[in-house]
Amino acid sequence: MSTREVDVVVIGSGVAGLSTAIRMARQGLAVVVATKGERGATATAWAQGGVAAVVDASGDSIGLHAADTLKAGAGLCDEVAVSILVEEGPRRVAELIELGADFDREADGALALAREGGHSAARVLHAGGAATGVEVQRTLEAGAEAAGVRILERHAGLTVEIGERGVEGVVLQGQGSQVHLSTEHVVLATGGAGQLYSVTTNPTGATGDGIAVALRAGAAIADVEFVQFHPTALDVDLAPRPLLSEALRGHGALLRDAAGERFVDELAPRDVVARAIVEAGAKTGARHAWLDVTVLDDFAKRFPSLDQTLKGIGLDPATDWLPVAPAAHHLAGGVLVDLNGATTIDGLWAVGETADAGVHGANRLASNSLLEGLVFGARVAEAIGGGGRGPLPTGALGALLGDGGQIGVRRLPPMLPASTVPRGTVREDRGMPGDDIAAVQQAMTAGAGVVRQPDEMARALDVVGALKVSGPPRSILDAERDSIVLVAEAVLRGALARAESRGGHFRVDFPRTEPSFECRLVQQVGS
Ligand SMILES: Cc1cc2nc3c(=O)[nH]c(=O)nc-3n(C[C@H](O)[C@H](O)[C@H](O)COP(=O)(O)OP(=O)(O)OC[C@H]3O[C@@H](n4cnc5c(N)ncnc54)[C@H](O)[C@@H]3O)c2cc1C
Repeated sequence: MSTREVDVVVIGSGVAGLSTAIRMARQGLAVVVATKGERGATATAWAQGGVAAVVDASGDSIGLHAADTLKAGAGLCDEVAVSILVEEGPRRVAELIELGADFDREADGALALAREGGHSAARVLHAGGAATGVEVQRTLEAGAEAAGVRILERHAGLTVEIGERGVEGVVLQGQGSQVHLSTEHVVLATGGAGQLYSVTTNPTGATGDGIAVALRAGAAIADVEFVQFHPTALDVDLAPRPLLSEALRGHGALLRDAAGERFVDELAPRDVVARAIVEAGAKTGARHAWLDVTVLDDFAKRFPSLDQTLKGIGLDPATDWLPVAPAAHHLAGGVLVDLNGATTIDGLWAVGETADAGVHGANRLASNSLLEGLVFGARVAEAIGGGGRGPLPTGALGALLGDGGQIGVRRLPPMLPASTVPRGTVREDRGMPGDDIAAVQQAMTAGAGVVRQPDEMARALDVVGALKVSGPPRSILDAERDSIVLVAEAVLRGALARAESRGGHFRVDFPRTEPSFECRLVQQVGS
């Protein structure tokens, strides 16, 4: 295994990883970005609706954006983190435009702004209609190249080495070989974990690796029971499922049940719409609802990429109602970080969807996650560039969530690492990773989906627990399997512990919000 020394290793090449890397490289740091597949294989590139930011204050304000974000987060957002997101957002978007991002504009040259569900004003910038992510990814890849960022494709960051003073290095798994990088800073920017579920809008690499790496390194995670299901993924036999952007409902598309009747306010929060679709299906036995876009004018002109996708599948948006069902879309929780992306371990940072800075609370407001990557990427870069190593010399959890914190914290009992679980209760030999992943996905879909039942959650935890293995991974797929098993366990433990319904977490046995659960559930692997 070869060893090299670099200032910072960023794991992941989406909006969070690249915007962090560009800023650090501009500060003169030697930065390597390791990414599991090709550099453009990211959720960022698939983003449709856009980036929310108050770039035009007529009829809108930073305060309104903050209020909408807090409302979606259902009492669990960190208000300081939200202020940072909405206040620093417009500056970061302006920088992205300076870097070359070509957002859609009105005839008079002003930025075209859309309104999405949960937003009280039109503040969502978009590009190519609903192809925003392609433009953001393109711009950042070009920016990274110009800034001299080295990108290692097909190298998965799976193990971070921790010494007495924090991070010492990282091992990257390539195809058939490993690379060891000696560094004092590792930034986890590995995106989401939609692949925990059978039905998801996320790319295949969204296996929760950053959360698993952080847990194995001893860092704390939080709020992972809050999975956002997008209500309108196209219900066709494709994995991942094509997403039908919220922007369609924003422009007037209607949801209809099996009888063709409307049954929900199309612009209600995502969790409300997703549950309404599941409940409507339970009544009629239909597996999906219908999105009626025939009522929209100029569909092909306004949403050219979606028009192309639909026609490729044999659906004509001018005449056909589109079958839609909820799909796992975004993880609100993740690696617990402070306002600069520092985790509870010195030198280990996290940013973007893999991190939990407290901006989303129990549910994410649409189009706030590209913004999160831009805003907190810049903060991580500034903190590392400024000589930061962690929230405190000790990296103490208490400093992140201590008495000064606005929201209470409950720590769940430690998770057991596979290596310490009594012999005979975990497998020592690996089976086929694909089979194990499918078993977890089915268990999670039944147990920790849009509507959660206690017995199904407990059953899913049994399935997941039986899939723990003690041996090291032999391939990237093995490692993804291990991430999926570990993160699924954390999601289920959180969902079982949270005896209430709030945001993206809905339990049939506790259908109401319970004030005593106005707290963040923190988890760590015990020794
Ligand atoms: C279909 C779709 C539409 C969306 N639309 C919007 C929208 O309109 N607006 C919005 O704000 N948000 C949207 N989102 C959410 C948003 O795209 C994501 O939350 C955001 O892009 C996450 O950025 P990220 O940089 O954290 O992760 P990603 O963009 O997913 O990048 C993660 C990177 O990490 C890599 N990686 C993963 N594991 C490893 C590993 N072990 N080693 C090395 N590399 C690894 C991946 O390959 C990838 O390169 C959408 C998501 C989807 C799936």
